Amino acid sequence: MTLNIGVLAIQGDVTENFLSVMASLSELGIDGAVSQVKTAEQISKLDGLIIPGGESTMIGQMSLVNGALKTIKEKIESGMPVFGICAGMILLSKNSKDRIVGDVEQPLLDLLDVKIERNSFGRQKDSFEAEISLDPIGISSFNGVFIRAPSVSDVGKEVQILAKFEEKIVSVKQGNIIATSFHPELTRDTSLHKSFVQMVKDSKS
Ligand code: GLN
Repeated sequence: MTLNIGVLAIQGDVTENFLSVMASLSELGIDGAVSQVKTAEQISKLDGLIIPGGESTMIGQMSLVNGALKTIKEKIESGMPVFGICAGMILLSKNSKDRIVGDVEQPLLDLLDVKIERNSFGRQKDSFEAEISLDPIGISSFNGVFIRAPSVSDVGKEVQILAKFEEKIVSVKQGNIIATSFHPELTRDTSLHKSFVQMVKDSKS
């Protein structure tokens, strides 16, 4: 059985995630294909989806307009694993506020039961890297790249906290949804992408 993994290719870190999934499949020896997807039709055929970092207002608005957002939501509700990175984490959430400007009109998937604080660590110039532990999924040390990163300010009871940095929640898991505030695709460490690919494989067996 070949896994069909997609990277939502509207805006943001698409190529980097594509390459990280390719590397993960090969390192795990799993038979799979990766594609860059935009349309509802492409998304309907996937076994797993990565929603990359970028600008959540833009990715949300464009995928609403082209009809992809509805299909993404239906697929996740029917059990398809999804990995939301930074802007992707915001899009998956039920509630998001910007740290400075507060409420912003933006389409959300309304699935991940968290409150998000956008730009929680400052603006582009405040980008940084930090060592993160994701012990609940067996990753004791990961180089987190934070770029205009959100944090999770509140979690519902179905949500498992995977990592914190300076008391702020920066990675969570809820059923078939995994999300990070930071950008694993910008490092050479494929352990988080491999964890996701394994989630996709497990969901098919
Ligand atoms: N601050 C961006 C947003 O709110 C996310 C930044 C990122 O994905 N690196 O959409």
